Amino acid sequence: MSDIEIPESHPRYQSLLTRHRIEAGVEKGITSQQGLIAQGRGEAFDYLLGEETIPSADDAARVAAAHLLLADHPVISVNGNVAALCPEEIVELADAVDADIEVNLFNRTEARMQAIVDHLREHGADEVKGLTADGRIPNIDHKRAKIDADGIGSADVVVVPLEDGDRAEALGAMGKTEIVVDLNPMSRSARAATVPIVDNIMRAVPNITAHANALKDASREELEAIVAEFDAEDALEAAERAIRSSDDT
Ligand code: ATP
Repeated sequence: MSDIEIPESHPRYQSLLTRHRIEAGVEKGITSQQGLIAQGRGEAFDYLLGEETIPSADDAARVAAAHLLLADHPVISVNGNVAALCPEEIVELADAVDADIEVNLFNRTEARMQAIVDHLREHGADEVKGLTADGRIPNIDHKRAKIDADGIGSADVVVVPLEDGDRAEALGAMGKTEIVVDLNPMSRSARAATVPIVDNIMRAVPNITAHANALKDASREELEAIVAEFDAEDALEAAERAIRSSDDT
């Protein structure tokens, strides 16, 4: 992916880079046009958050890392925006916590599924799930319910960055520990999450990896204590406070 023509000194470098990647994703058949709208909504919240990782999001990323290290079968779900924005970072996180990667689309077409699988492989993924689609999320309409039975279907911990609210709620109802990355603390996805990380995926994914690497030698007891101390409601409230008042995080 070429991150061209944006001087790093530009005050809105990260934001422009993000837009460029999403645009390139649409051109490459990875990201849907709906993905452009999701990007716009995310950008607005990122602006209000000061385009930085707030302390409560950093805490949540550490808790997410602990969950992933404790998991029997963690799976990272990837959609068109995630694939366009941070494919390498997803592969690095999967390697750090020994997770599967599964493509999971709201607007599913076989062509886009395949394009995303190929794109992730180009960025270092060995195996990418999602094409078998022999499992279902209960109570979700047929097309959007498709998952791999040996992927998200049998996962105990799922990372769902930018998930749509319906599916996030349905995955929660399946009893999965759900780690959601979403810049909107009021979205249904963030509210359905076991661990909501209110941050841009471009910052949050590498941050979870960094925490996972730092916690790699931690005992089960230490990891369980990190998980037990976390309160999702507090994390969402801290993010809402940060949005309302830029110096009150
Ligand atoms: P709900 O979860 O309330 O049903 P939604 O699924 O309708 O909301 P969408 O319009 O599909 O929400 O938007 C996707 C979500 O992804 C938005 O909440 C937006 O803030 C978030 N988002 C977009 N880009 C990013 C990003 N780069 N990092 C993190 N979150 C993002």
